[in-house]
Amino acid sequence: MELSPAEATKALRLIPLGGLGEFGLNAMVLECEGELLLLDAGVLFPTAEMPGVDSIVPDFEYLAERRERVRAVLLTHGHEDHIGSLAYALAAAPAPVYGSRLTLGFARRRLQERGVKAELRTLRPGEPVEIGPFRVHPIRVAHSVLDSLALAIETPAGVVLASGDFKLDPQAPPAERTDLETLSHWGDRGVLALLSDSTNVEVAGVTPGEDALVPAFEEVLARTRGRVLVSCFATSIARIELVAGLAARDGRPVAFLGRRMVDNAETAQDLGLLRLPGVTRLLPGSLGDAGASRALVFVSGSQGEPLSALSTVALGEHRDLAAGPGDTVVLSARAIPGNERGVSRLISKLFRLGCDVVHPATALVHVSGHGSRDDLVELLRRTRPRYLVPVHGEYRMLAQHARLAAQAGLPADRVLLAEDGDVLAIGPSGARREERVAAGRVLLDRGGASEIEDLVVRDRRHLSSEGIVVPIVVLDRQTGQLESPPEIVTRGIVDSDEAQQLAEEAGRLLTGAIDARPVEERLDAELTRERVRDELRRFYKRRTQRRPMVIPVVMEV
Ligand SMILES: [Zn+2]
Ligand SMILES: [Zn+2]
Repeated sequence: MELSPAEATKALRLIPLGGLGEFGLNAMVLECEGELLLLDAGVLFPTAEMPGVDSIVPDFEYLAERRERVRAVLLTHGHEDHIGSLAYALAAAPAPVYGSRLTLGFARRRLQERGVKAELRTLRPGEPVEIGPFRVHPIRVAHSVLDSLALAIETPAGVVLASGDFKLDPQAPPAERTDLETLSHWGDRGVLALLSDSTNVEVAGVTPGEDALVPAFEEVLARTRGRVLVSCFATSIARIELVAGLAARDGRPVAFLGRRMVDNAETAQDLGLLRLPGVTRLLPGSLGDAGASRALVFVSGSQGEPLSALSTVALGEHRDLAAGPGDTVVLSARAIPGNERGVSRLISKLFRLGCDVVHPATALVHVSGHGSRDDLVELLRRTRPRYLVPVHGEYRMLAQHARLAAQAGLPADRVLLAEDGDVLAIGPSGARREERVAAGRVLLDRGGASEIEDLVVRDRRHLSSEGIVVPIVVLDRQTGQLESPPEIVTRGIVDSDEAQQLAEEAGRLLTGAIDARPVEERLDAELTRERVRDELRRFYKRRTQRRPMVIPVVMEV
């Protein structure tokens, strides 16, 4: 299975910069004859272990170093984990961006927010486009956001078929259904490499379609005398349309609350992808009116994001909507790994307000957008690839996808397990792994304005678990003697009574240590600072078994 040197120069190279080893951050480079395509440019959502980190984007260094040869960014669909880092990818390597109408509609707003200009080119299923040595064929797939695509990419080395995020959902309306015939057609023509979504590889069977949600929503509408608040991903346009239709049948007016929800609904309506016939729309400002007492409100913030509309409602602080007894909140989304605790707290707050809360653990109010094991096998069976590259997931999902493929009859040496930064070279007679390239994560502050060093995050984590000690020491500039007893401020170490006692004790200890300094140290503020730090570190470690961060302030007057 080795590549000859002649073949290696003409081989297709797949270089994942993100998404292989984590959920999110999807970004895969395809390289052939020195020309590059970037497939998706997503973000990763930070977990509670990364205080103050707002979003995480892939390190696009590899693209930046080859910016002249990047021909295009191809977007499979409009989820944040596929389009959220587009502005950063384009900053590294400006290139035209290709995607479906809705995907580009969402992407355009993100780019405008960041003040980034880009050429956006629309992909339509069945209409191939030429990009350098590549020919890209968009294929309709069903997913939780409308207008999602798989892409069959003809390269000089062979066809790469990227599934995007998909499920089969044969019950979906024809315009939203996965185009199985075209996928089979590519199988007949020959697929060199299939890049297939691994998200739900641990789930048996087939993923149900959106229509599976109807009974649970009907039940909630029937028994709720007040308002129904529905929180789903703001990109779940098909679900919004489905639920709004049920609300209209139940005689309920409909409103949208939260910036993303309002923006996305507007984008989808403009494109004719969100149809609300017979639906009475209310503006958020009129949700307090008598006529709105039975409204159904789509609210953003299903992940418990602290500043979202739903979190604000849960705190009882939303300007337009005070939820309470008689109202039902439906969380129509699963918690993204890492968000579980935040979502759990959110649910408790809503119950405390007197609301009823229905969520995926208590009723069928959410279906996944990702294919389960049987869907994945079906895609393999139809496309019959020479190689399978499991993408999109933590390593355990990628590895299980490899096993699933083996059970389905694909020889083990034809599954290529890779992680971010690996380089897979694939030619007609074999595949090999080449030397790894730079790949990693860039952590961004609020609003993506600045990068945060890993060190900063480490500091924040340290502060949150160990606390902080700030001793304030005032010295006489002439003599180097203490002007007054040191003051010690601590936070987050022990409870306040004990902290006070400890601080006093530490103050006495410091006074002794400072008075006892050797002469040559007395006029050196830097050495004094270090001594103070060492003394206090030792003291707090001994007395509290913690290692607080000690930040001495030494002033000379
Ligand atoms: Zn998706
Ligand atoms: Zn995804």
